[in-house]
Amino acid sequence: MREELSLEERLRILRETDTERRWYTVDDKRLCLICERIISGRGIRIDGGPDKYSLGCPTPGCTGEFSHWLLYRPTPAELESLAPDTAGVMDILAGLNRRGLDQL
Ligand SMILES: [Zn+2]
Repeated sequence: MREELSLEERLRILRETDTERRWYTVDDKRLCLICERIISGRGIRIDGGPDKYSLGCPTPGCTGEFSHWLLYRPTPAELESLAPDTAGVMDILAGLNRRGLDQL
């Protein structure tokens, strides 16, 4: 993992590299089909660069990358635990509404 990346850089790289699904925040969640775990944009391994990056599942030993990740919709209780501040919750809810059509 590239610890030196700011959250803004991380989000930009996620957006540019993941051509399958939209990233709204680095706290967006994905379900990895390889390891069947919920992962977050903050934990995703970013390698390569500066022109081309690769994304990797944060689970040790998992070979999943963005084509294996499905959008994950948190339950309302999980939403609260994810974003204790009201503004964060509203951002996530707005993101979920925008992402509705992407759900399986
Ligand atoms: Zn995985």
